[in-house]
Amino acid sequence: MKVAVIGAGLGGLLSASILSEMGYSVEIFEKLPFIGGRFTSFKYRGYEITTGALHMIPHGSRGPLAELLRKAGAKVEIIDSNPYGTALYGGEEIDVNRRRMPLRSKVLFALLCMKNWFREVKLSELERRLDDFSAKFLRAFLGWSFSITPEQTTLTKIYPVYRSILEHGGPGVPAGGCKAVVDALVDVIRSNDCAIRKLKVSAIRKGNCGFSVYFENGDTEKFDIIISNIGHEETAKLMGIKKYVKLEPSRGIKYSISVRQPFIEHTGVLFTLNTRRISGMNQVTNADPNLGKGNFLMAHQPMLTSNVKFEISEGLKDLKELLKGYDYEILAIQSFSDGWPVNRAIAGSDSGCKTPVSGVYVVGDGAKGSDIEVDGIALGVKDTVEYIRKSL
Ligand SMILES: Cc1cc2nc3c(=O)[nH]c(=O)nc-3n(C[C@H](O)[C@H](O)[C@H](O)COP(=O)(O)OP(=O)(O)OC[C@H]3O[C@@H](n4cnc5c(N)ncnc54)[C@H](O)[C@@H]3O)c2cc1C
Repeated sequence: MKVAVIGAGLGGLLSASILSEMGYSVEIFEKLPFIGGRFTSFKYRGYEITTGALHMIPHGSRGPLAELLRKAGAKVEIIDSNPYGTALYGGEEIDVNRRRMPLRSKVLFALLCMKNWFREVKLSELERRLDDFSAKFLRAFLGWSFSITPEQTTLTKIYPVYRSILEHGGPGVPAGGCKAVVDALVDVIRSNDCAIRKLKVSAIRKGNCGFSVYFENGDTEKFDIIISNIGHEETAKLMGIKKYVKLEPSRGIKYSISVRQPFIEHTGVLFTLNTRRISGMNQVTNADPNLGKGNFLMAHQPMLTSNVKFEISEGLKDLKELLKGYDYEILAIQSFSDGWPVNRAIAGSDSGCKTPVSGVYVVGDGAKGSDIEVDGIALGVKDTVEYIRKSL
């Protein structure tokens, strides 16, 4: 059975490593000169500046990604955060695990979860009824974790993530950062004699027996199964399908910062509640000092307007206030939208891994299972592998 994987992002690499371990013959095609998509990094002045991710795995060593990495035999050490996070609120840093929600907000949340399970309640509706801390925390959590606001999602869509956090716990940082995850998967794939080739796929056509994959350089190859890591819409274009899903991406801005003195004391997330834009920060060198010289801080904000310059100026005002009195330097400011977004689909709106063409599957973000970021990607890959196994 020959499998083509289009795209060497986390979704593609994870699928390829599991299938190659199961004995499938897998070839991966990547258009860019580097492997890992939005989940890898490049060294810049001694800091591992990422192509996207904040070097975090949402459920650390206890979640679906860690489980699949173990299954694939990928050797990755994950340093679980303790505490999961703290919140900067009114000048005070509060441990979010310990802070008790006021009874009023707790009862309201429980009632809404039960009563409105089938109703598309916008989270902004819930936010209006919460106490000030809980409302601001909700906004910061959505901004940091998904690059969205409470206006952009509903209780039904986010509730599975809330359940998953209760089940698996909070984040962790892979030793070596997100690149270490990608490198470990590449090792598995290569050790199973599967190739990763630098080629852009330009079209996929279904024949009587399998698929023809066309490349930008004019070559063609035949495969039995296609796994696409480039999102549903781009996959539809490659297949020449006009009417198919339209997903709304989430957009954001990330700041990579070097700070002389430590700004965060722990390895988790510092949610920032009284800000214009910045939703949170992490200091990844607390988990792995090799990720940067001294203290390497990353800050993230959702993009609330389409004016990138304005969004960055608002984010920089926040950083100036947050880092007042600290000696810091901004190493990189990166914006994420369009073909390189934070997420291809706003959290909870992913479209599953099946496509209208039997034998073609989509993995990665936009085709996540019900969980956060790369842990959701792992669930989508798990489903895809299961469908392929059952279809044969
Ligand atoms: C600022 C930011 C912070 C984030 N922080 C985190 C975090 O801390 N933790 C977390 O879990 N998630 C985080 N995420 C989300 C996470 O990075 C992404 O969900 C994940 O990396 C997406 O992986 P993917 O495999 O779906 O797609 P991608 O990484 O986009 O990979 C797709 C690959 O396909 C290739 N490709 C496209 N078209 C073709 C073609 N025609 N032929 C061949 N190759 C092609 C692309 O070049 C790319 O390499 C963050 C994202 C951003 C932007």
